[in-house]
Order: sequence, then structure tokens, then C-alpha cells
Amino acid sequence: TRKYNFCAGPAALPEAVLKTAQAEILDWQGRGLSVMEMSHRSDEFVAIAKKAEQDFRDLLGVPDNYKVLFMQGGASSQFAMVPLNLLGQGGQANYVNTGVWSKKAIAEAKRYGNVNIAASTEDRNFFIAPSQSELQLSEDAAYLHYTSNETIGGLQFDYVPQVGDVPLVCDMSSDILSAPIDISQFGLIYAGAQKNIGPAGLTIVIVREDLLGRELAQNPTMFSYKVAADNDSMYNTPPTYALYLSGLVFDWLKNEVGGIDKMAEINQRKAAKLYTAIDNSAFYGNPIAIPNRSIMNVPFTLADAKLESVFLKEAEAAGLLNLAGHRSVGGMRASLYNAVPEAAVDALIAFMADFEQRQG
Ligand code: PLP
Repeated sequence: TRKYNFCAGPAALPEAVLKTAQAEILDWQGRGLSVMEMSHRSDEFVAIAKKAEQDFRDLLGVPDNYKVLFMQGGASSQFAMVPLNLLGQGGQANYVNTGVWSKKAIAEAKRYGNVNIAASTEDRNFFIAPSQSELQLSEDAAYLHYTSNETIGGLQFDYVPQVGDVPLVCDMSSDILSAPIDISQFGLIYAGAQKNIGPAGLTIVIVREDLLGRELAQNPTMFSYKVAADNDSMYNTPPTYALYLSGLVFDWLKNEVGGIDKMAEINQRKAAKLYTAIDNSAFYGNPIAIPNRSIMNVPFTLADAKLESVFLKEAEAAGLLNLAGHRSVGGMRASLYNAVPEAAVDALIAFMADFEQRQG
């Protein structure tokens, strides 16, 4: 009776992961208790956390000179943690503005230092990402921050900005683990877990070791990457159950899907199908420049906005959940994260064609 869930986050989890969790909920591997009830310092949980980290490193090919930190507070806390840890006293950073999430990161960074907007496509309604040649980098910036995938706008970078020696910082919340990336191009990557990683409550930070320890003295202990790194992400109690479930997701991605390259292939196919269906119809539309169309979040409009509530109601009745666009922009949005099966996209496309035929 599980339905197809296109939620932008918290998002669908792989069914196989939920089944394992269900099977282990009362008695984890014969220990007579749930992972939720274990000490985070027990050998059992430390092993769970270590395996999760190793699988995550293997999946993304994280080099040895990068730490993987399991933190809390969501990607929104990273909007503050990045400047607090990297700006230094009176520092300056470059930010690229491509939509709602980069704007939030910019607003937060302005509380701690000087922000130079290296590029913005707001004057173009965020329908496109700025090109490399549009980036205007200020001298002496501590880093350049960008959002690789704007979850609400459905805008994804089709390249990694080249910024020379300046550390590149990326909010990868909604496209991490969707396709291979070259970690060595980045100084720091962060992502809230609740899309491609696992349940909400966990936030992952990948940080190059030389960037640790640049924070101001008054940086809260819990906000310090160095403290997290020095304590193997266990300075305090980590979100143990979210970490365990994320570990199951990494294991699924590695061993059942067959790794990130395979996942990327499936994701490309899912998105291509849906964009083709939208483009082949005069009834549906997507406003984003083709090279920047997100593989993960596909916003779309109906020719007659008055039909939106009928569309959503009928979609839900057809077992297609959470297709409403973000409350700030309206319209529709189908999020096609890793755990959304290709069959879900096929069912959505069939529903859209049927709806158009009846209502278009
Ligand atoms: N950045 C991006 C790209 C997001 O999509 C989101 C949430 O959807 C956030 C940041 C905020 O994440 P959180 O809710 O984990 O704070």
C-alpha cells in the first residue's frame, strides 16, 4: 500500500531500508534492543557510525585529507556555521545568488562578515545559473559559497565554479549522492540529510582538513567543525537513529543500486522522461533554462492555474503524493530523489497525460 512520494523533503526513503529498520526495530542483531536505545559510545553504535562514514566515503570517493562530520541543526545551521568557522575577524566571502536557499545563506553570512555577491540571476527570475565568466570574485575572500541545486526553484548548476585557491563551499543538500562529484574541487560541502541521505535530524559536512581551526574564539563549541572533527562527531550525543538509517541508505546505494554512477544514470533517465513529457505538452511548462534544469526537483505549471487543486487532489487519489510546489512559489513540483523509483516517474507521466486529456 505504499504510494509514490514526490516530497521535496523529508523525502522518500528506499523501501528496502525501511524494511530492514522495521525488522531491527525491537532487536538489533540479537542484542535485544533498538539502535535508538543504545549508548552512542557503545562498541555496537561506534561500529554503525564507522561503517556509515566509510560507505559514504566510498560512495563519493572522499579523499583522506577531508573529514566527514555528522552534525545536527540542518543545512540552515550551516548557513551560520560556514561563516563562523571560515570567515575570521572582519572577513569577507563571495556568495552566488541563485534562489531561495542561497539568499538564506547570504542573509545569515551578513550577520558575521562582509558578503560580496559574486553573481546573481535574480534579475532573470532565477531561470538560469550564472556562467563561470559572470562570477566576480572579490580579492581576499575567505571562500565562495554556492547552492548546487536550488530545491524550490528547480535550478541546478551544470558546472563546478572554478575559483583558484579560494575554498569552494557548496550547499549540496538536495543533490548530494545523486551523481558523482570530484570532492577535491571543494573546500567544504554540507547537506541536510532529509533528501538523498536519510531522515531529518542529521547534517553531513565534508571539510578539507586545512580549513579546520580558523574560527573565532567565541564560536559556540557545538558549531565548531574542529571540535566535531577532533571528537569523531561525538562531542555530544549524535542523532543516533538518523545516523543508523542513513548508514542503511548508503549500504543500499552501494550494494543494491550499485554505486553513484549507476544512481546517476537512473536519475538522468527519470528526469529526462519527465522533462520530455512536460516539453511535449502545451498544457504543462517548466521555466528553467535547459542546461540548468534540476535532475532532482522538477517544478512545473499547468496551463490553467485554477486546475492546480484538482490536479493535486486527483494525483493523491491516484497514489502520487506531495506534488504541490513550495508554498512560496506555488505550482507543482516533483522531487525525484534517489529513493523515488523509475516506476513512480512513469506513473506520474501517465497521470499527467490522462489529466491533460480530460482537463486540457
Ligand atoms: N539548502 C537547501 C538547498 C535546501 O533544499 C534546504 C531544505 O530544503 C535547506 C538548505 C535547509 O535545510 P534544513 O531544513 O535541513 O535546515
